[in-house]
Amino acid sequence: MNYQICCIDDGQDNELYRLLRNAHLHLTLLSPSTSLLSVLERSDPDIILINYHLQTGSGPQVCQTIRERDQFSIIPIMIFSPQDSRDHILDSYRAGAEDFISASLPEEVILEKIFSLIRIRTMYEKLKEVDVLKDEFLSSVSHELRTPLTIIRENVSLVLDGVLGPIVSRQQVQLEHAINGIDRLTSIVNDLLDISQLKSGKMHLKRVQTNILSILKEIEQTFLVSIQERNLTMTLQVPTSLPPLYIDPKRIRQVLFNLLGNAIKFTPAGGAITLGATFADNRVTVEVSDTGPGIPAEHLKHIFDRFYRVDHGGSQPGTGIGLSICKQLIDAHGGKIWASSFPGEGAHFFFSLPLAEEIEEKATIMMLHELELAQKNQWSCAILTIELRGGDRSVTDPLAKRDGLDMLMMEARTIATRPTDLIVSYRGDRIFVVLNQTDRMGALSVQHRLENHIESLLHVNRGWQRPKFSLHLFPEEEGDAGVFYKQLIKGD
Ligand code: ADP
Repeated sequence: MNYQICCIDDGQDNELYRLLRNAHLHLTLLSPSTSLLSVLERSDPDIILINYHLQTGSGPQVCQTIRERDQFSIIPIMIFSPQDSRDHILDSYRAGAEDFISASLPEEVILEKIFSLIRIRTMYEKLKEVDVLKDEFLSSVSHELRTPLTIIRENVSLVLDGVLGPIVSRQQVQLEHAINGIDRLTSIVNDLLDISQLKSGKMHLKRVQTNILSILKEIEQTFLVSIQERNLTMTLQVPTSLPPLYIDPKRIRQVLFNLLGNAIKFTPAGGAITLGATFADNRVTVEVSDTGPGIPAEHLKHIFDRFYRVDHGGSQPGTGIGLSICKQLIDAHGGKIWASSFPGEGAHFFFSLPLAEEIEEKATIMMLHELELAQKNQWSCAILTIELRGGDRSVTDPLAKRDGLDMLMMEARTIATRPTDLIVSYRGDRIFVVLNQTDRMGALSVQHRLENHIESLLHVNRGWQRPKFSLHLFPEEEGDAGVFYKQLIKGD
């Protein structure tokens, strides 16, 4: 098999490359430019080699940037350096490289190290194939189980409802147990099916303009009986009106069912459940809180992982799938879901949903307009993307995130001051600074000024991490406005 080895280097050919070519390995040399990630994606590498000494930064820095991208997270990376320095080796491993080689190693050892990376890559591929097979199996088994389960339920219901003749009360109790068991099994099967559809991207949201208030009120009614049965109370805390959202109501109901179902399941009798919603900064945030045992801090960050369960000391039924489905559904809506819990204060689950037309579509229309203008007038357009990576606060607190975004917008406005400069926020976590009729040099100087400016602000706002900057040039990198925009929002 012909393996694709991408070498990231700003230098010329060297001994290592000659050695690899002599071993009939296929190399592609890539320079560490701003468009490196999109070039890498197109090259579809099996292994990535990075020179430790790059003019534009260090090999480990480039390695880290590559590792942060999902599609490169399992590509073996090796960093090479002429020196066998302890620091170089440590830097490389800490940046996420699988291996490190120095020029002092014998040629056979270097080759064996490369071949071992190729073996790792082959194993990854095999694991991926097995994973796909497993998903397909899960999906078809879940699908096949649904029909017989429906038939069993219908028939048991016929007997239970006395349609086939009278039943005595002992039979009734047993049949009710059977129906509960069937319903539980059906919901697990449905969850498994959802998981496989979400993973394979086969789940399509049927988004419509929806008033989430009516969903919340309907859910409150649905849960009324089980709330009373468990001797709990439920309060609906919502404003009189909320802006319409562009969501799949069935899927948002499913998320609420899961969150409320958990709240009811884990809260002991006498406890209180709150279902609330607020609107701020173009987002509607829904809250489901309870006064149950809460979730210990060390488990909070895993709570949305698949099959993750926390032992609360009882024997609560469950699979650990529900919250992971909630997360994937909310992610698919471009929203965020998070949980907080403090000892003795129960669990608080939140999810926020963007007003799609306010955030994404407006940004898209504005950006495409600028790019098409540039295409028509044949001028170049530089787009500086500044991505908010806010501190821990931003992960759990959308308002804090909004503050960060506003701060970036304000700072960008003080630097990109020409009337033709445009600043657009996108999805609440990044902004695009569109610099019309600007070449790379001009755009880089804006970028550096903005970076310095923001750097000084980081000292004041200690909760924030340094935002991530990237620069893209239209039409230099991609001549089609639509394609360029798509790559831009994908984060290429
Ligand atoms: P399941 O409820 O089937 O176990 P979930 O994915 O819905 O699966 O939840 C995962 C775990 O999160 C649960 O096992 C439970 O330990 C914890 N959890 C979820 N909601 C709550 C809650 N409201 N209070 C306490 N723990 C919770």
